[in-house]
Amino acid sequence: MHISKRVLSIKPSPTLTIDAKAKALKQQGVDVINFGVGEPDFDTPINIKEAAITAINAGFTKYCPIAGTPELKNAIINKLKRDNGLTYVPEEIIVSSGAKHSLYNLFQSIIDDGDEVIIPAPYWVSYTDMVILAGGKPVIIHTSDKTNFKVIPENIEKALTSKIKAIIINSPSNPTGVTYTAGELKAIAQVCVKNKILIISDDIYEKLVYDDFKFTSIAEVSPEIKEFSVVVNGVSKAYSMTGWRIGYAAGPKNIISAMTKVQSQSTSNASSISIKAAVEALNGTQKYVESMKKEFEKRRNYIVEKLNTIKDIVCRKPEGAFYVFPNIKSFLGKTFNGKVINTDIELADYLLDWAKIAVVPGSAFGAEGYIRLSYATSIENIKTGIERLEAALKG
Ligand code: PLP
Repeated sequence: MHISKRVLSIKPSPTLTIDAKAKALKQQGVDVINFGVGEPDFDTPINIKEAAITAINAGFTKYCPIAGTPELKNAIINKLKRDNGLTYVPEEIIVSSGAKHSLYNLFQSIIDDGDEVIIPAPYWVSYTDMVILAGGKPVIIHTSDKTNFKVIPENIEKALTSKIKAIIINSPSNPTGVTYTAGELKAIAQVCVKNKILIISDDIYEKLVYDDFKFTSIAEVSPEIKEFSVVVNGVSKAYSMTGWRIGYAAGPKNIISAMTKVQSQSTSNASSISIKAAVEALNGTQKYVESMKKEFEKRRNYIVEKLNTIKDIVCRKPEGAFYVFPNIKSFLGKTFNGKVINTDIELADYLLDWAKIAVVPGSAFGAEGYIRLSYATSIENIKTGIERLEAALKG
């Protein structure tokens, strides 16, 4: 049967594919260490689960307003004020089934055929395909570990064309963990405002920053910049709620209204039960976020130190998220246990087959010559996994 050109032009999410492959091997009894995961390995906090159970028992199980209940919108408005100093009204907020869904609605709402969106690489895998699905064209700005994987205003100025509609800023970043300072964001934002480019700020890893790094959302840098920004965030990563599917966006009324229209004709409201759980996540105790963050920081320190002791691996210490993105270029073109490895994809395959560790090749994120390891797994697993990595790269 016929499949549309639009859908044929995109690929399935490579990170979800690798995660599925690792999980399938595990189910067959293979002892795989999965560094491929994109979700915290902690349970959802008990107060949040109880709020959902209460919602079910109270019969809060029906359709809700498309863009979210007033209660959750208020919790989001309070969160954005409390954490980011940003002021919004309810018509400037939409709740979706995950931040990914908010982003999808956003691209559908702002892109006409042939419009361009600047995406700094390494980028989260779904940005490019979501832009393509909306009829747009990703314009990639490549960065490397030599420049700390950061874009600077000059990079944006060079990439400018009359068709550029938006830029995506993801800080802390998936896959690098790199986090921009307020000053760096201000410099980027000024170029965007000058050229009337919408800034899409994907703040999903906001709560996971380490060493007292102060998180800044680009929208909070100045009131003028806020007018040009759509902030996307959610509860998946901060509250270990990846399966609950609640994300949100905050931005100019006409954009949020367009996104609501898209959502009204596709998925309608996010799950009513998850909405109640998200209210508790945002309004309730934040102590679980703090303990999860402390554990992630410990693991980050451990994995970065261990990786850098492996000869020829270079791994930058990230400020946030739960990923490391070591440079593995020195290993390419060499032979390991009889297998020639020419690309990061071949290296990831070799590591899964030979060492039983799942990592994601950098090329999935538009950056060849790196691999992404998630440290959303125990210190014991990290220790065993890195020992296996070292043995595989000696082979
Ligand atoms: N943005 C980034 C950078 C991510 O890494 C992810 C999840 O992996 C998302 C958005 C989507 O999160 P959600 O679970 O809220 O859809």
